[in-house]
Amino acid sequence: MTMMFGGSQTGRETASDLAFTDPLTGLGNVRRFFDKVDRLIAERADDPAPFTVGILDLDGFKPINDLFGHKAGDEILIQAAMRLHAAMQGQSAVTRVGADEFAFLLPMVFSEEAASEKSRMLIEILSAPYDVGERTARLSASVGCSLFYSGDETTEILVNKAETALYQAKRSGRGRVVVYTREMEEAAKRVTRIEQALRRAVSSGEVEPHFQPIVDLHDRRVVGFETLARWTDPDLGHVPPSVFIPIAEERGIIGPLSQLVLRKATEAARSWPHELFLSFNLSPSQLVDQNTGLHILAILNRTGFDPARLEIEITETGLMTDPASAEKIVNDLRRVGIRVSLDDFGTGQSSLGRLRDFRFDKLKIDRAFVSSILDDRPSEHIIRAILAMCAGLGMEVVAEGIEEEAQAERLIQFGCSGGQGYLFGKPADADATLGFLRETLYRADEPAWQTRTA
Ligand code: C2E
Ligand code: CA
Ligand code: CA
Repeated sequence: MTMMFGGSQTGRETASDLAFTDPLTGLGNVRRFFDKVDRLIAERADDPAPFTVGILDLDGFKPINDLFGHKAGDEILIQAAMRLHAAMQGQSAVTRVGADEFAFLLPMVFSEEAASEKSRMLIEILSAPYDVGERTARLSASVGCSLFYSGDETTEILVNKAETALYQAKRSGRGRVVVYTREMEEAAKRVTRIEQALRRAVSSGEVEPHFQPIVDLHDRRVVGFETLARWTDPDLGHVPPSVFIPIAEERGIIGPLSQLVLRKATEAARSWPHELFLSFNLSPSQLVDQNTGLHILAILNRTGFDPARLEIEITETGLMTDPASAEKIVNDLRRVGIRVSLDDFGTGQSSLGRLRDFRFDKLKIDRAFVSSILDDRPSEHIIRAILAMCAGLGMEVVAEGIEEEAQAERLIQFGCSGGQGYLFGKPADADATLGFLRETLYRADEPAWQTRTA
């Protein structure tokens, strides 16, 4: 089924109409869009009235396509196109500019508020259920807008700004609208600066692993360490991982960064007492890349680190993007003895179903629950429920972010055996960690350690 919205009125399309038309939906295509914006810019050259361009991206269209099949996916796109087309008034126009991306031009929308309002209305219209055969599907969408103000903007600049805004919208969740502002431009520049500095730091080996102890809550014995990446740039100073890790993920630097940190971490941990494990964070984007497993194994081989001492920490977000790919990587790692823990449990897109489909050796309860355990009833109940579930599923548990003795005591009382947090130790570099181990283990008069280091 093909409909013609913006095309010829006679039903007989010329070659040039077709070149400007999206064959699936009958809407104009990206060429039509640029053409329309070019024309409007020319028209507004002497007219101070602003106008709005927007890019709309369907949220979660790919899983729908996978779930319902491509034919149904096409059907949904056609229905979405019809709805958007019906929502355009006057000279407004919508075109299809990517697989699940539409661009619209609103010549009579003059302000950021009006642009947001109109965009929200479009999202609303798209969120009503879609009929696909016997079933119905639901979608949401994100929108980025930019406004044409003065005579010096080109179509490319306007579209780039709308794309930057869309990117921000997508980053902040589903169903969001973002209108481009100057501050976003500044933020985008800062990200680019960090990206460039990080690329340099990774290639010259300047990102360092720090190690934070994980303890047995009952006797406070250190059982392992989590590796946490640390980076100080000569110009930017100390940049926290909450800033550089997402940038590394988005800009494709996470692979090399991760390999660097794992190599240094396993080199350092190699000489620790062998009963201590080392855990290491894997980013969601690494679980989509089938080379991840190979890289990890190659590093362990090179540094001579026993895979049975390594644990990888992954989040539920990491499993969602491409579950089949994630499962394959995890299974490959598991085959050589690497253990797998589910990080930040209770935040993000938690699904208990995942715990049935996927086998984890360990679960880490997010700091958000631990920090409120003493004064918040719901957190207490959630932690108890998680502990009961882990006991049933045969998973170990570590509570993260323990800062106070009273929190540790409460966790023990609930039956939690693993803990991590400033109460037991902050992340420290390789030398400091070695010093810490020497001190604590000599004090405990640990013979295994003494013979090994002798
Ligand atoms: P995460 O995996 O949840 O790591 C735990 C974070 O909590 C660390 O923050 C740690 O320093 C902090 N933390 C530990 N105990 C306490 C506590 O008692 N109180 C408080 N307030 N915080 C505590 P950090 O090092 O800033 O890392 C932030 C996140 O960056 C990590 O969260 C992890 O998601 C990511 N990350 C760090 N290093 C790497 C890495 O090498 N690779 C990847 N993919 N991600 C990393
Ligand atoms: Ca972690
Ligand atoms: Ca965590």
